[in-house]
Amino acid sequence: MSKLPKVGTTIFTVMSTLAAEHKAINLSQGFPDFDCDPLLKKLVNEAMEQGHNQYAPMPGIMPLREVIAQKISNLYGQTVNPDTEITVTPGGTYAIFTAIATCISPGDEVIIFEPAYDSYIPNVLVNGGTPVLIPLSYPDYHIDWQLVRSRITPRTKMIMLNTPHNPTGSILRETDIEELRKLVTEHNLLVLSDEVYEHLVYEGAQHLSILRYPDLLQKSFVTFSFGKVFHNTGWKMGYCVAPAHLMKEYRKVHQYLCFSVNTPMQYGLSNYLRTPEHYLSLPAFYQEKRDYFLQLMADTKFTPLASSGSYFQLMRYDRISAEGDKEFAERITKEFGVATIPVSAFYEDGKDDHVVRFCFAKKKETLEKAVDRLRKI
Ligand code: GLN
Repeated sequence: MSKLPKVGTTIFTVMSTLAAEHKAINLSQGFPDFDCDPLLKKLVNEAMEQGHNQYAPMPGIMPLREVIAQKISNLYGQTVNPDTEITVTPGGTYAIFTAIATCISPGDEVIIFEPAYDSYIPNVLVNGGTPVLIPLSYPDYHIDWQLVRSRITPRTKMIMLNTPHNPTGSILRETDIEELRKLVTEHNLLVLSDEVYEHLVYEGAQHLSILRYPDLLQKSFVTFSFGKVFHNTGWKMGYCVAPAHLMKEYRKVHQYLCFSVNTPMQYGLSNYLRTPEHYLSLPAFYQEKRDYFLQLMADTKFTPLASSGSYFQLMRYDRISAEGDKEFAERITKEFGVATIPVSAFYEDGKDDHVVRFCFAKKKETLEKAVDRLRKI
């Protein structure tokens, strides 16, 4: 018996395991190799000491939801009701799954852009939905809205977005929002917007969160991650924002999936988020890493593809080899000691543009050591 016969082990586990086996520098799975802010750990410890160790309320503790609402107002100029429109979740991936489980029934079609983060398709399938896969243009990875229109049917229920985009680093522009708005209105679609890299946008570009647009927000679930932006992916903390009528349904599912989320982490994060500098400093922090990585990589035979956000950088390797990307990624992990993610893993049919993804959320010395090895290829 299998509800997901075609699904194997996630590429993130495959490559991180291979990296460990070969003692390779792991630039594959997306997580930092530096620790989170000591202040944040102190705040969590204090919460534990103060006895915040029992179940949190099902939607999350109110101080955290209030400070999230404040952040949304500061960054996106939107008023969101913390009581009815925000739910704290164990991470971004969970927040996405729960939105799909809330809305998607057998026969519903969900538009997913490829390359796609690898949980999206299985999430839709396991809920009985039908993924409708639409390629992003190559090599700039933007949405071809004409193509999207041609794939709409009376069964289209939801469109999934991801900005900044994993693995490509592309971001939505105002023209995309205009097209999205027309489509959503004409065809009465729901939107699921994965914005876990919201603060990781470079060269002064603005993150066009769906939260900025009240009309779109009325039809949307918008998901976020604390782990991705505050360097503690192992805490598995995130949240979902949706209008009250959708959030009411979302909580019906959430309450029976995990009921509620780690209490002391919620207190720690709520106190940490009171200082806007903690998130306002993130674009510059990560842009410095990205620029440093690109500068180092200029000395190798890899060719970077344009990217505006996230902590990933795609690189073509056609000046090095004509191998398929899985073979190439495996070989350089074993022979040169640097692990990456082959981008074909983000395509259902394994489309291979000979591109690999590097995660640059690493200490300077890690990036230097990795690029020293990559120069030898
Ligand atoms: N989001 C991370 C990435 O893209 C991986 C998370 C995971 O391993 N599930 O690398």
